Amino acid sequence: MGKAPPLRDDCFAMPRGVDWIPVQDALEKLRSNLHPVVGVETIPIQEALGRILAEDVVAHQSHPPFSNAAVDGYGFAFDDLPAGEEITLPMEVGQAAAGHAFGGSVRSGHALRILTGAKVPQGVDTIVLQEDVNVEDGYIHFRSGLKKGANTREEGEDIKVGAVILTAGTKLRADRLGVLASAGITEAQVYQRLRVAVLSTGDELEADKAEATIPDANRPMLLGLLRQMGYEPVDIGIIPDDVAAVRDALTQAANTTDVILTTGGASSGDEDHISKLLNREGNMQSWRVAIKPGRPIALALWNGVPVFGLPGNPVAAFVCTLVFASPAMGVLSGSAWKDLKGYMLPAAFAKNKKEGREEYLRARLDNEGAVEVFASEGSGRISGLSWADGLVRLQHGAATIKTGDLVEYIPFSKWLE
Ligand code: AMP
Ligand code: MG
Repeated sequence: MGKAPPLRDDCFAMPRGVDWIPVQDALEKLRSNLHPVVGVETIPIQEALGRILAEDVVAHQSHPPFSNAAVDGYGFAFDDLPAGEEITLPMEVGQAAAGHAFGGSVRSGHALRILTGAKVPQGVDTIVLQEDVNVEDGYIHFRSGLKKGANTREEGEDIKVGAVILTAGTKLRADRLGVLASAGITEAQVYQRLRVAVLSTGDELEADKAEATIPDANRPMLLGLLRQMGYEPVDIGIIPDDVAAVRDALTQAANTTDVILTTGGASSGDEDHISKLLNREGNMQSWRVAIKPGRPIALALWNGVPVFGLPGNPVAAFVCTLVFASPAMGVLSGSAWKDLKGYMLPAAFAKNKKEGREEYLRARLDNEGAVEVFASEGSGRISGLSWADGLVRLQHGAATIKTGDLVEYIPFSKWLE
């Protein structure tokens, strides 16, 4: 089991004097200053769904491993066909079927019954489809016009033995497990699953308080999101706005996980105990990222474990997790960096957007395939998250969007890939 090197103390440092950082600059910073923090292990591919390859994978065998029939039909040597429009060939006794190769070799000028998936025997390079053939008294008759090699799949035409088929940093989706298996691979060296702690802060969230409380929306939301992303979420619970309690919770989380996501208390108010504590004891950097919805994000290392201090507001917490924590966790977990790209689609809305920040609007496609946005941009309106299937990203500059203009729509699923 491999061990990863620690992060540098200054991995979240921003140049001094920078005020509101453009989102893309903040992302570039995360990309270049973070690296995988998890170890590697070798596991059977059946258990590797959602895992990230820690090495390039080379095909152990070609695919297909031998030339085989793509159809049910009759095989022969193309160059030995008699001339003419109507072709008649005597048939060999026996057949070739999938998993049951023909023992001998097919004689020149003869044809063999051959079924889909069967190994193409010696003496055959071309197959005529059974629907195009008349069979009579041990002979087949068909019209000429086939191409040499027709209806066969050549050995290695898809994957060649020794070729790199998947590269390090690739997440193993179900289809990729199929590709690995086809290349004769049964085990893969992958990164260990990133363990991510989630904790909510705020006295208003405490369940045992006499006064009315606010339900903790962030924890179930983020724990679910992390599981969808293929990480191992670890629930640390609700922590009151109290420095000692937050300190204990961070230490407990840092002992057992690779990354910590906190929500709430990350600004610079009196009750913002996350930023107060991280400032004093966690080498905190406050990232004032020019994003809406969002607040300053507190980035720190707690006992060497990266902490993402996200806004408490659930809409801002969700968007900032997707936009910042998701790509950062991608790097920490060993994934290759992906520059997120949405789809340019016509807007079903109009909007004047101010210069100087990137904006994310809760959005979905209407019946015409245009992008509609949630009625309210208010970041307290958490119901807009479930109304939406994704976000519209409006870039840093000013923009006047008219109905029908193309806007970038990013489905939520893009962040889960
Ligand atoms: P804060 O970032 O702590 O100043 O919180 C900003 C707003 O988000 C406040 O109205 C909080 O009550 C609310 N909030 C913070 N954490 C949560 C949470 N886990 N679930 C729902 N609302 C929250
Ligand atoms: Mg709070």
